Amino acid sequence: MSLMFCGIGVSRGVAIAPAYVLNRHRADVKPVTLDKKGVTKEIRRFRSAINTARKQLEQIRGTIPEDAPEDISSFIETHLLMLDDATLSERPVEIMRAEACNAEWALKLQREAVIKVFDSMDDPYIATRKDDVNHVIDQVMRILVEKQGDGDPFIHDWSGQIVVADDLSPADTVLMQHQGVAGFITETGGQLSHTAILARSLGIPAIVGVSGIRRYIRNSEELVIDGEGGLVLGEADDNSLSYFRRQQREIRRKQRELSRLLDTQSVTLCGEEVTLLANIEIEEDIKLLKKSGADGVGLYRTEFLYMNRDSLPGESDHFSAYKRVLRALKGAPLTIRTVDLGGDKESAAAPSANTHNPALGLRGVRRSLNEPRIFNTQLRAILRASAYGPVRLMFPMLSNTAEIDQALGIVEQTKEELRAEGIKFDENLPVGGMIEVPAAAIIAQAFAEKLDFLSIGTNDLIQYTLAIDRVDDQVNYLYDPLHPAVLQLIRMTIDAGQKAGIPVSMCGEMAGDTRYTRLLLSLGLRQLSMPPKLLLEVKNVITQTDIKAIRRKALNIVNSTDSERQARLIETLNRLAGTEKEKEKEKSA
Ligand code: PEP
Ligand code: MG
Repeated sequence: MSLMFCGIGVSRGVAIAPAYVLNRHRADVKPVTLDKKGVTKEIRRFRSAINTARKQLEQIRGTIPEDAPEDISSFIETHLLMLDDATLSERPVEIMRAEACNAEWALKLQREAVIKVFDSMDDPYIATRKDDVNHVIDQVMRILVEKQGDGDPFIHDWSGQIVVADDLSPADTVLMQHQGVAGFITETGGQLSHTAILARSLGIPAIVGVSGIRRYIRNSEELVIDGEGGLVLGEADDNSLSYFRRQQREIRRKQRELSRLLDTQSVTLCGEEVTLLANIEIEEDIKLLKKSGADGVGLYRTEFLYMNRDSLPGESDHFSAYKRVLRALKGAPLTIRTVDLGGDKESAAAPSANTHNPALGLRGVRRSLNEPRIFNTQLRAILRASAYGPVRLMFPMLSNTAEIDQALGIVEQTKEELRAEGIKFDENLPVGGMIEVPAAAIIAQAFAEKLDFLSIGTNDLIQYTLAIDRVDDQVNYLYDPLHPAVLQLIRMTIDAGQKAGIPVSMCGEMAGDTRYTRLLLSLGLRQLSMPPKLLLEVKNVITQTDIKAIRRKALNIVNSTDSERQARLIETLNRLAGTEKEKEKEKSA
């Protein structure tokens, strides 16, 4: 009998592949008292587990593709070094001898002792090492307890499998994609979690919020996932399997059809040009850019330079990454957003201070202003990169004009520094800000007077306007880009930009959702930035839209507070207005 589960489809596509159930909870370890012979045997078992862990890590190191980001291999190197350290390899042996106990118990006691020392130190860098220690001990513990270490994303070959996990960090997602994972299912998470965004941009079918699914799925069981409908099928019957195989073929056919639009201009039927830009997270995304025909990068999320590494990226790490992206862009503009750590984007190299509510805490530009040294390193690299191609600098999470003044002041200081050092940069580097906080949208006019461009980050704007945590699946049903309050804020921002004569773009997920393309065009947006995979679909809608013919209908949607009516209106807008087919139909009617 087939099993069916429903979740939130966050990345389209159909995958049919064996499941890999990732259980990362810790084993319940009990003490066992042993005689002398038993202790000797236990020490041997422990040493063999350390050896197995080392071999597993070395094996993975060998499978990392050559073009993978360097931080992935450095992450594994750190774990290898830790395995060889006496704290983990020798001290548990001493405990086994002194307490005449089993290996798992000795390792557990040693974990507690080490973590206690870490906890007594107030240094954020030390805190990141604590995670590494836990990670390595978990790996050895699993080998001891399960006689196999397959629960760790860093010691498994994911190729062609659908990973079923409680949750995945953005770092896990990137690593698994490198290993050719077929799809993701997680028990928690929402449409806007960064893992979901990443899955979309990597083009991996993904479903989140499938509560409790790991209890029902067996390892290697064949699963079908439909990333659009949010559907998971276990033990699918032949009819369902052939249906989803047809779907897969249909998706491939549509992709082939869309690829014909690569060289088509992004212009509406009424002659309005629309700039289509790409959101990129990691350098590898540049490869996707070429296949999308983007006019440039509207959002480079630089957080990923801080992930999967145990120390902060230096100026040269930033600079070389930016330069490589610029080279690939061949003269097209690159919008680099200064780092937006905090919220659901955490870095082990720069952990956030404990806070009750990370989404409302020290994140984005707030954190950069609070840590000027880290900010200065990134700004120097961005400015230096601007000598090699058209770079735009953008600040995330602005909420008042004082932050803009302060950030611009630091940019000026950094420019002074570079001038004094005789280093070249673009003196006219455009500086923009993201509109992600309702307060920023309301005073967008004041922002527009100080900045060269604005970019609407609907993921956060919706989160903060509707008071819904973007990663909390319990309140996900409230996520509504068409909420009149959200639309009013978007409209205010566009109007403010137009009045000040500066460009306004949108780089939140809403920009890449074809359901909203016509509405956004009607509101006046002419620049949209999205995951490269979605770009041609949006272009397809743009080329079939006559803005003049639909504007009035679109404004009715903005002014409506009745969500059912809105849904009807947007459907009509998308169905009737401007498509060539419809026009022909209308003419012949
Ligand atoms: C946004 O908030 O819409 C956005 C683009 O930024 P991020 O998703 O990285 O927070
Ligand atoms: Mg944001």
